[in-house]
Amino acid sequence: MSVEIVRDLRGLHTSIARHRNGPLNTAASLAIVPTMGAIHKAHEKLIMEAKRNADIVLATIFVNPMQFGKNEDFNKYPKSEEEDIKRLESKGCNIIYIPNVETIYPDGFDLSINVPKLSSILCGKKRPAHFEGVCTIVTKLLLQSGADYAVFGEKDYQQLLIIKRLVKNLDIPCQILPIETVRDENGLAISSRNQYLNTENRNIANNINKIMKNAADNYKNKDIESTINLVKNNFLDSGIKKIDYVEIRKGENLDVISNNDKSNARLFIAVYISDTRLIDNIKL
Ligand code: AMP
Repeated sequence: MSVEIVRDLRGLHTSIARHRNGPLNTAASLAIVPTMGAIHKAHEKLIMEAKRNADIVLATIFVNPMQFGKNEDFNKYPKSEEEDIKRLESKGCNIIYIPNVETIYPDGFDLSINVPKLSSILCGKKRPAHFEGVCTIVTKLLLQSGADYAVFGEKDYQQLLIIKRLVKNLDIPCQILPIETVRDENGLAISSRNQYLNTENRNIANNINKIMKNAADNYKNKDIESTINLVKNNFLDSGIKKIDYVEIRKGENLDVISNNDKSNARLFIAVYISDTRLIDNIKL
């Protein structure tokens, strides 16, 4: 059966019911892969992970206005619907849900979901209301679909932990499946926003992973502050002019880390290259 494209809630429910009760029979499980489109290799890996775990795979494409700040790139976010559908279908996606803004946020919509503590640090500190937008759309998509599994990438590590907390605290019966960050041949974390980089900026961005790996290699022998300074100085030397943050936190809960207990640490960074904001994180 070829992929089914649905654009409203009724279509989504009908399609899911047909797939669950159809040739796959009633016990069929469903995995959702939420995306903002501009499908790339990392999204394809998420689909493959969904397929490995569930009988039916639902991808969603929705550029969520609620998670963008006023001066951010909502209006220029790359769109390639036709190509996206082909790529998702070729990876075995069964249903693609492409709602418009009115479908998700109809007149009178007045709700936001917040995971306040985890959302107050790192990207949340720099992008106020961003994670509230993410939590609201993810909650809606999980409830609309009734998915048994949802797949998210470690590239957005803070988002992943926030969504795990959200699902747990709201008792949503959906298992969150993470996948590791997918990188290109230079180690750059693949992102739809990499499209914004010209050749010169791309060359600068190619240093990010090397610098982070170098910090990981030397982490054991340095204190936290020296590691952070090393990364910051290396970023500046490589031509990155604006550093949003460089922080080291606990991988399991994003708590701050002390030199007394440097275990289970992750390095989190956000930088601007020209106007493009890139984020990354690695285990130290
Ligand atoms: P986006 O379309 O950028 O909102 O991302 C949709 C999903 O893909 C999220 O779960 C992201 O964490 C995940 N994702 C995006 N880029 C990567 C990557 N390079 N590696 C792993 N997951 C990714």
